[in-house]
Amino acid sequence: MRDAHLGQIFVQQDELAHRVRALGEQISADYAGRELLLVCVLKGAVFFLSDLMRGLEVPCQVDFMAVASYGSQTETSGVVRIMKDLEEPIAGREVLIVEDIVDSGLTLQYLLRALRAREPATLEVCALLTKPERRKVELPIRYVGFEIPNRFVVGYGLDHAERFRNLPYVAALDEGRAPAEAGSRQSPT
Ligand code: 5GP
Repeated sequence: MRDAHLGQIFVQQDELAHRVRALGEQISADYAGRELLLVCVLKGAVFFLSDLMRGLEVPCQVDFMAVASYGSQTETSGVVRIMKDLEEPIAGREVLIVEDIVDSGLTLQYLLRALRAREPATLEVCALLTKPERRKVELPIRYVGFEIPNRFVVGYGLDHAERFRNLPYVAALDEGRAPAEAGSRQSPT
């Protein structure tokens, strides 16, 4: 049965599959003849990463990072701490950050600065979802899955208080009826 806290579905399961496949084809064409390092930001981007990576036709490796953003439950402050760092240096590598969602953009801005300082050959971003209305900083996001309205969404890896990641679609969380134990933004998302 569908959870009472869930609102409108923004991205259906078949739309996700179709778009993620198209992104994989585009990335494979753009990186043809090169070897790619995917940097997956835990935990929300894990489902997206695993589907995206299976569609890539270029040689690729994966590494993981976890970050915690400080702020309220709905607003990040832009102060970010690395909770889990990459296992390997990225100097000289072709790096593609795989993110679940870009909201204000402050977390990604921090990540881009931190990784750029390690001197990769190239550094690009692939985000499944973005909320352009909420953006506080302009960022070079090369690959975007879907633009969505200014709503808090869950599913396909995205959580609220660690729930709902397993939904096969992306849906709004009905804020009026959101669970009381709201998720902390201070844990890796
Ligand atoms: P930003 O720094 O861009 O404001 O926030 C980015 C992070 O906030 C995302 O990586 C994600 O963890 C979390 N976030 C932002 N919007 C949403 C949303 O609608 N749903 C969920 N589950 N997380 C979100």
